[in-house]
Amino acid sequence: MAKYKIAEIPGDGIGPDVMAAAVKVLETLEETRDLSFEFNRLVVGDELKERTGVALPPGTIDEIRKSDVALFAAVGDTAREVLLPIRQQLDLYVNLRPAKVYPNVPHLKEDVDIVMVRENTEGIYKMIGDRGDGWGINVRVITAKASERIARYAFEYAVKYDRKLVTSVHKSNVLNYSCGVFQEACQRVAEEYPGVEFNEVLVDACAMRLILRPEAFDVIVTTNLFGDILSDEAAGLVGGLGMTPSGNIGDDHAMFEPIHGTAPRLAGTGRANPMATILSAGMMLDWLGEKDSAAVVEKAVIDVLKEAKTLTPDLGGSAKTMDVASAVCEKL
Ligand code: ATP
Repeated sequence: MAKYKIAEIPGDGIGPDVMAAAVKVLETLEETRDLSFEFNRLVVGDELKERTGVALPPGTIDEIRKSDVALFAAVGDTAREVLLPIRQQLDLYVNLRPAKVYPNVPHLKEDVDIVMVRENTEGIYKMIGDRGDGWGINVRVITAKASERIARYAFEYAVKYDRKLVTSVHKSNVLNYSCGVFQEACQRVAEEYPGVEFNEVLVDACAMRLILRPEAFDVIVTTNLFGDILSDEAAGLVGGLGMTPSGNIGDDHAMFEPIHGTAPRLAGTGRANPMATILSAGMMLDWLGEKDSAAVVEKAVIDVLKEAKTLTPDLGGSAKTMDVASAVCEKL
């Protein structure tokens, strides 16, 4: 039997609510498939900082390192203090965000099935800068090494998941120094994958085309800030925050999380939609190599959505977070 140690990081706000739902789904999988999970619950975030002055206790990253994978829910104001060190110290260089239309989820566009591959360690989020009286500077760092490895991840993903097109998104006509390095790295890597179509789009044109013709995109690879913005745009196209999972992935470690934040007004009310976290748990299983279980989780989510009997208020229903989890578990 495959056994996995999971660092479970619920965080704040609706984080613990949606995490409880995802854990219930994973525990049901243990009963129905040849799998077992050991959860190592780690406390981080806003509430912890209020109590102790520290949002990310020393040792947390080592605990994640000792686990097979991490499942994270949400933190609010301390996101920068918690997420950036985890991503950087574990070298989780890929931020992977699928955006696709699910049944009975109100969406702006049909036929959207995009996978956003965002560079997760450098760019403007390198946090190099300064601020003085009336001025501020953030330095954008782009290296060929990081650009090549994110481009390679995007092409490998396309090959593995039978995707046809990789689009490199940048702004090399204006940000010629930094985006030039990214653009050329993508072009070099593209030559190694003649079986995958490759094209390039400037980030402003991409933002517009995502609204007008999202079906023109398949896999998008881009830099950190552009990916941050475009992946929220893509999430908006397919029905928003309650439905969108993500992964922070490196060569040796990974952490999966819904893209939404703590939604403090919904915390503890049972009105939070757990689907994004359940789908993140599905992505986690896929990364662990449990492809069948990952597919089963996604199918259970789709079945519950199709039935439209157990939906949270954001999807037009009146079900509670844990009712949705139970409905997904029944389908499993
Ligand atoms: P934070 O400061 O942590 O980012 P936030 O409330 O500003 O919190 P989000 O948590 O990302 O930002 O959510 C914005 C809004 O989207 C919420 O107020 C809520 O209405 C809705 N929302 C987000 N996640 C969910 C969810 N899982 N289920 C239902 N509604 C959600």
